[in-house]
Amino acid sequence: MSKYQESSEVDVLIIGAGIIGLATAYQLAQLFPRLRVLVVEKNRRYGQETSSRSSEVIHAGMYYPAASLKARFCVEGNRLLYDFCASYQVKHQRLGKIIIAVNDEEVDALRNLYRQGLENGVELEWLEEKTAERLEPGIRAAAGIWSPNTGIIDSDGLMRCLYQLLLEQGVICLFNAAVEDIEKNGDTYYVNLSQEIIETPVIINCAGLYSDQIAALSGMDINKHGYRLHYCKGEYYRLSPAPDIKHLIYPLPEKGGLGIHITRDLAGGQRLGPNAYYVEQIDYGMTEDFKPQFFRAVKRYLPALKMENLHPDYTGIRPKLQGENDSFRDFIIKEEGAKGFPGFINLIGIESPGLTSCLAIGRYVTNLLESI
Ligand SMILES: Cc1cc2nc3c(=O)[nH]c(=O)nc-3n(C[C@H](O)[C@H](O)[C@H](O)COP(=O)(O)OP(=O)(O)OC[C@H]3O[C@@H](n4cnc5c(N)ncnc54)[C@H](O)[C@@H]3O)c2cc1C
Repeated sequence: MSKYQESSEVDVLIIGAGIIGLATAYQLAQLFPRLRVLVVEKNRRYGQETSSRSSEVIHAGMYYPAASLKARFCVEGNRLLYDFCASYQVKHQRLGKIIIAVNDEEVDALRNLYRQGLENGVELEWLEEKTAERLEPGIRAAAGIWSPNTGIIDSDGLMRCLYQLLLEQGVICLFNAAVEDIEKNGDTYYVNLSQEIIETPVIINCAGLYSDQIAALSGMDINKHGYRLHYCKGEYYRLSPAPDIKHLIYPLPEKGGLGIHITRDLAGGQRLGPNAYYVEQIDYGMTEDFKPQFFRAVKRYLPALKMENLHPDYTGIRPKLQGENDSFRDFIIKEEGAKGFPGFINLIGIESPGLTSCLAIGRYVTNLLESI
């Protein structure tokens, strides 16, 4: 017997209406249109946390070890996302990106990245110094990698489109609905939303920065299973006036992130970021403490940059499984039957390239459900 006397019943409950929850609900409704799917979100609108605080880059997939979920979903997700954008008129641009080495010492690391990308099945071209500088005259580079399938996307437009499609497919999204407790009774979960109790055999945990806490609420030992998240903050500076740079320009990746790069938005604006440092709390505020670090990092490859061109913009927080001194951790996407939680699917540590991967992740989760 559950302690709850009255509850509403659904077939699948998705916790979190960020890009991952929305894309998963979409893929689920495509394959199983008769399922009663409910998405619950603690904020008053979808996509108010990590999904609206990213670089909005459609990555190509060269950064992650071959055979990792990150590599697999990024490569597959890149293709799915471009197709989706074309079908539903979501704004995007396949701008292409150059990853650069600024000196001879960096060229070896760049070659390793190039090999990694090719192994992952990413279309890439090696650029010698003059070719890189000819492609993007404003930058200085000792060598480069050209990635033609890296691009940018209107991430809010993508979420708006997915949300509309969900409504048309009969999926219900409940806002201002924070999950406060989860009780397991046999093969049924009772999810307490404070105003309402939802009864369901399937929970898909897409709660982003809070996904470890949702797993803990259900009774999983997140320390024992290596599910505890660490928060890694990234800040952005808008460039005004914007330099005449046509592509996305990235340095070599660094600890915690992809290195402070130059990205564009779809309105033609340019920005620098994000840096990467670990924090204890989720706080999206921003000081200018790291401004000199940004300037020095980018001046190396964009000589015309001036300190007064940098203006504080916004921040985001990466939900990382690896702590500050840990090595690579992959996405966790798992049905937890083996832990005694059948029908409970955890998605934890969905940091970059989560936006790029969203449709591939949604498809994978749908297949997981099919096999239960
Ligand atoms: C600085 C930065 C830059 C990035 N750049 C890129 C990029 O260029 N390209 C790329 O592919 N990826 C990028 N990423 C990664 C990408 O943004 C994330 O992987 C993706 O947005 C994660 O989406 P999500 O739905 O898992 O999380 P979120 O967007 O955080 O959504 C989770 C949702 O769950 C809700 N929730 C949490 N707890 C509860 C609860 N108890 N009850 C109900 N709802 C709850 C939250 O309110 C939230 O809306 C970047 C990330 C960061 C931080």
